[in-house]
Amino acid sequence: MRGFDTGNMNYISTRGQSQPVSFCEAVAAGLAPDGGLYLPESLPDLREHLDSWSTLSYPELCYEFFHLFATDISKQVLKKRVEQSYEFFSHAKIAPLKKLENDCYVLELFHGPTLAFKDFALQLLGNLYEEQIRRTKVAINVLGATSGDTGSAAIHGLLGKKGVNIFILYPNGRISPLQERQMTTTGAGNVFPISIEGTFDDAQHIVKDIMGDAELKDRFKLSAINSINLARILAQCVYYIYAFYQLPKSARKHVEFAVPTGNFGNILAGWLVQKMGLPVESFRVATNQNDILYRLFTTGRYEVDDVYPSLAPSMDIQVASNFERFLYYAEGEDSERVRQVMKVLKETGKYVFENFDADTFTASRMDDEEIFKVTKEVFEKYAYVVDPHTACGFKQMSENKTTVVLATAHPAKFPETIQKAIHQDAIAESLEAIKTEAMIHYRLPACREAVIEFLTVHAVNGNGQ
Ligand SMILES: *Cc1c(COP(=O)(O)O)cnc(C)c1O
Repeated sequence: MRGFDTGNMNYISTRGQSQPVSFCEAVAAGLAPDGGLYLPESLPDLREHLDSWSTLSYPELCYEFFHLFATDISKQVLKKRVEQSYEFFSHAKIAPLKKLENDCYVLELFHGPTLAFKDFALQLLGNLYEEQIRRTKVAINVLGATSGDTGSAAIHGLLGKKGVNIFILYPNGRISPLQERQMTTTGAGNVFPISIEGTFDDAQHIVKDIMGDAELKDRFKLSAINSINLARILAQCVYYIYAFYQLPKSARKHVEFAVPTGNFGNILAGWLVQKMGLPVESFRVATNQNDILYRLFTTGRYEVDDVYPSLAPSMDIQVASNFERFLYYAEGEDSERVRQVMKVLKETGKYVFENFDADTFTASRMDDEEIFKVTKEVFEKYAYVVDPHTACGFKQMSENKTTVVLATAHPAKFPETIQKAIHQDAIAESLEAIKTEAMIHYRLPACREAVIEFLTVHAVNGNGQ
């Protein structure tokens, strides 16, 4: 409990070879210098707070939770930044829990500006970045590549913020038209969506190449908004607690969260809250046909395979980047072991865990055919429409448990799949509005030099004024 003696929380790297840093430093850095991921030096015990927090609004709960971690931000500032982060959600409850039947609930995480759960973290991260820029007077440029959801959530998190420009590369013609519209119709002067003549891999390659060049990184004050940022994980912890409070008391005894999973970020957040004392019984790792995590939790073998494009594209991943945080705890907080395992994984693409202890996890896997089938079944049974990612959560419901399925995206984001599954349209007002707005984007060849030239012209610099 070192972190608590002084009232300050420090952050350590999973690989144990970086200096402990403060919350703001961990958020600004993203990745630790030793290549590891940041975690709190110790986890707070939430049990003493759970009663008194139970009547709070979502932003109030978020503030109380973050206050335990962001000990280097003043209370006033933190409160304001948290409140701002949930202003643009369209539902009064922010994360409403809907009952489908006695032992089955859905936690709707799609009422944010881009209609996917990533808004919970990226709205807040955008405000934390703005605060950081205000304090340090150093402008930053965010550079990223996207195949869909993350890019638009990041853009909407940084929209119109002072002292930061955001550049998102995406493959021309290979993201959904609605996702492209979400990125290109903001009208904000600090947003630069760049359509690359190439694949997502080409776009990501250019970003990695530029970010890996220390001179360029420094010249443009570049920063990444990626799924390994600690603030994203912590922001996602909050809705698990909030969901728990919305369950009737009688249903809280044996709760399982079913989490559509790609990078293991969302489900890791839930698991951390359980470690901090929220009495959840289990978590289900719900994958699509890209099932590396399903295989891990059913066999103990972690084995990288090719990515097969699916109806749930935000879960089409090969390497679950947040897995390293789980590994750190699973290996008894032994950072030397983490280094060994990550080295083997990097070199061979696989690792076999002996005595893989994952008691609190169950796992399910769903291919595209089942996604259609389940979408239809859920609609017929409950008159409720799920998006293709959320559909993956409706399988292998555990008996004698209350299952809470996390609805990670609004069905209206996936009109073709929904129409094909239930022969109806799902509608979201905010998407209707952007269907007619003018798109502003930039086009570049899949070439590093072209992107550098673009940054030279459009990067914000100086003191962010
Ligand atoms: C990103 C995303 C996921 C996967 O979340 P992870 O934190 O990467 O596991 C699932 N569903 C949707 C809609 C997403 O955008």
